[in-house]
Amino acid sequence: MTTLIKNGTVVTSTGADPAEVLIDGEIVVAVLQPGTDLAQAAENGAERVVAASDTLVVPGGVDVHTHMELPFGGTVASDDFESGTTAAAWGGTTTIVDFATQSKGLDVRECLDARLELAQGNCAIDYGFHMIIGDVTDAALKEMDLLVNEGISSFKLFMAYPGVFYSDDGEILRAMQQCASNGGLLMMHAENGIAIDVLAEQAFERGETDPVNHGYVRRAEFESEATHRAIQLAKVGAAPLYIVHLSAKEALEQVTIARDNGANVFAETCPQYLYFSLEDHLDQGWDGAAYVCSTPLRPHHEHHQDELWRGLRTNDLAVVSTDHCPFCMKEQKELGKNDFRAIPNGIGGVEHRMDMIFQGVVNGEISLPRWVELCSTTPARMMGLHPKKGTIQPGADADIVIYDPNKVWTISVDNHHMNMDHSAYEGIQVTGHCDTVFSRGQMIIDDDQYHGRKGDGQFLRRGLSSYLI
Ligand SMILES: [Zn+2]
Ligand SMILES: [Zn+2]
Repeated sequence: MTTLIKNGTVVTSTGADPAEVLIDGEIVVAVLQPGTDLAQAAENGAERVVAASDTLVVPGGVDVHTHMELPFGGTVASDDFESGTTAAAWGGTTTIVDFATQSKGLDVRECLDARLELAQGNCAIDYGFHMIIGDVTDAALKEMDLLVNEGISSFKLFMAYPGVFYSDDGEILRAMQQCASNGGLLMMHAENGIAIDVLAEQAFERGETDPVNHGYVRRAEFESEATHRAIQLAKVGAAPLYIVHLSAKEALEQVTIARDNGANVFAETCPQYLYFSLEDHLDQGWDGAAYVCSTPLRPHHEHHQDELWRGLRTNDLAVVSTDHCPFCMKEQKELGKNDFRAIPNGIGGVEHRMDMIFQGVVNGEISLPRWVELCSTTPARMMGLHPKKGTIQPGADADIVIYDPNKVWTISVDNHHMNMDHSAYEGIQVTGHCDTVFSRGQMIIDDDQYHGRKGDGQFLRRGLSSYLI
């Protein structure tokens, strides 16, 4: 089937111009100048013409940090691959890269296969995986080489969560050396988990059990120290480094210094760190449990958010992902009712990233092309998915969002599609709305209806990051 998207403003990372997009089957075959003979011929020949007047035509979002049905702290993230990827589609995200987890003592391959099986046939949009290496053994290191060739080209390690996912500096260095030789991208959860656990235990023993203590004990110093250490280790290991979910300005400073020195260091942040704060969201008694995530929300008065927006403009922060990791308040967050340490860490937001970062355009923080670059183009390039994903150009997958930049609406648990009993974004009024979403040429969202099916999404064998030098 051929489709022409007509009369819209096509936005890519390089500009925003009136253009018409011709889709043949699953692929974009032409981007045409309106009013030309070629555009007219395309319209005459198209089996379907979609009017996009007064809207933006943008590449589908690429969210490279999600955790669908992740087992964590005795429970499982509440979105499965079906509900989570469907919610993503509603919010204009047409690709996710989720995580498979190798835990202590387990075999990398078996853990990956189990995860692939969970996703297979259940996703509404295309998906890939990073591999979490939770036990850096000789066998795991060898396996990393094989995975790179099978399209799992990035690996996440943790400097936090001792006894669960934690790797010590020697293990981290060995994994970095492996990435240096196999071309993989090393992703790091950079927080000093050993030190955090000391403060967390002391707080608990003083009877400080509320959710806000999660924010107090996960100090910004622990994030910046770990970020600094990861950068130094990556320098020695000669590996590229991608810092996930950066929230502290002090950590951003470390990334900025490294990048100014020419290091292959990249970082992402997430919408929650740009809009939520320790005082306004985490510090509201038990209700703050909805905002327990790691790295934590930072104090408003320390002005982290201004610095994060600055980083998004200067490319010291290259990507916005969500770290979507939803837990319901009832029975899930409640596990930590009497002990903040037992609250499952995570915020659900896969549906709201495109809209929340578009508010940066509305508020004059970033440009329209930069919005697309942060939410789609760079994540695709970073994770080896470009030019299939992340742009609108001949040969790219027809993952396209028709975005109404003027529609004003309010986010609520009553209108979101994530499997959660609350919304961290409840009551937030946004300008801008995903009206129509194409996934590989198939119109899966239109007219407030979902027209797709689980299993539409395909597993993506990713190449190497485009950014490595
Ligand atoms: Zn993490
Ligand atoms: Zn995460």
